[in-house]
Amino acid sequence: MKVTFLGAADAVTGSRHLIDTGDRRLLLDCGLFQGYKALRERNWGPLGVAPASIDAVLLSHAHLDHSGYIPALVRQGFRGQIFSTPATRKLCEVLLADSAHLMEEDARRANRTGSTRHAKALPLYTLKDAQRALSHFVGLPRDGRLKLGANEIRFTPAGHLLGASCITVQGAGRRLVFSGDLGRAKDLMLPPPQPLDEADVLLVESTYGDRRHPAEDVQERLGRIIRSTIDRGGSVLLPSFAVGRAQALLLVLQRLRAAGEIPGELPIFLDSPMAREATEITQEYGRLLKISSGELARLCEGVRVVSKPQESLKVAQAVAHRPGVVISASGMATGGRVLNYLQVMAPQARHHICFAGFQVGGTRGAKMIAGAREIKIRGEYVPVSAELSHLEGFSGHADSEELMAWLRQFRRPPSQTFVVHGEPQAADALRSRIQDELGWQVRVPQHGETVEV
Ligand SMILES: [Zn+2]
Repeated sequence: MKVTFLGAADAVTGSRHLIDTGDRRLLLDCGLFQGYKALRERNWGPLGVAPASIDAVLLSHAHLDHSGYIPALVRQGFRGQIFSTPATRKLCEVLLADSAHLMEEDARRANRTGSTRHAKALPLYTLKDAQRALSHFVGLPRDGRLKLGANEIRFTPAGHLLGASCITVQGAGRRLVFSGDLGRAKDLMLPPPQPLDEADVLLVESTYGDRRHPAEDVQERLGRIIRSTIDRGGSVLLPSFAVGRAQALLLVLQRLRAAGEIPGELPIFLDSPMAREATEITQEYGRLLKISSGELARLCEGVRVVSKPQESLKVAQAVAHRPGVVISASGMATGGRVLNYLQVMAPQARHHICFAGFQVGGTRGAKMIAGAREIKIRGEYVPVSAELSHLEGFSGHADSEELMAWLRQFRRPPSQTFVVHGEPQAADALRSRIQDELGWQVRVPQHGETVEV
């Protein structure tokens, strides 16, 4: 069996690993590079393998850093099937279409403003490409098992996000386990990752390989933030990933309201068409969650769902002047309607901007929590005077302790372990813990490297 690390080898995005079992070439994930410009430019470079030579894609979950390159792969000649859980497939319908839409918008804007080095800016892929890619998706049966040639594949729940899975590939006499992104032992909505106990080769993520999540009660902290902000006449902006995090935030806001910890009349806005769709999908797949059907049904109760772009601008003006709480995407403030709110709220000290998820280096979100006093939005510099916070307790990722606990469930050491999907420092920290505490053969692969396993 051969493994080629085509992405997320020295970075936290662009998850792509090619497995060659002799009779099949399987691509584990097919994600976009995000964050720093130098990384994003990799999306335009060659994949490192001819797309037409790949037999199938096995997709761990719907986040774009795992799925967002699929339309480009299909556009470049991939002809095979894409296997995922039904929930992942459903979420990809929303996420890939949105990703294509943003790329087309960006290209149009660059051509309009002349801000491109190229004669004509082109999107990496179009909405049509995304739709074509979706026709390659095949939903897995409920037991998550699949046979491809001589290979047995199994998807098992990974927590992290609705439909997210760890993937086991048994082929060529080896058992390879790919963690995908691992969720937390105690998540607000999802059960913990299903334990796995045997692997010859292990690929493990390391997003939080060098950090522990604070032992904070997110509901209590968010309640305090909201109360102190509205007391001084300000509003709270929650930049949020539309899928997963937005639903967790809605759940916590409903619980705060039910407990009387925030005023019942305080307006709450959900301004992200994608988050609305993702909430419906979450409600459809309620059996995968650990919250009651009553709470699930009430996620949007009393929440004003903003749909039209014009309405979004109006709501932004309203909350800039009167207290309210807004959930809007994107979660790292790289684009989307959250920019409407940042533009009017960031310059005012009475408002509070609360990031509730991992912020990839190079994004506006990462810059703001690092203390940037101004940010560039739509070509203009906007001063940042609002209060800022980062609620890491909302993270959908296992932290370093939880990663180590997951690894300790293996009954024997894998003969080779590769630490992937982390910023270099996080990946190296997890590598050294695995080596020191477990005594396993472990290393961080290089981007583009092929290893015989
Ligand atoms: Zn993820």
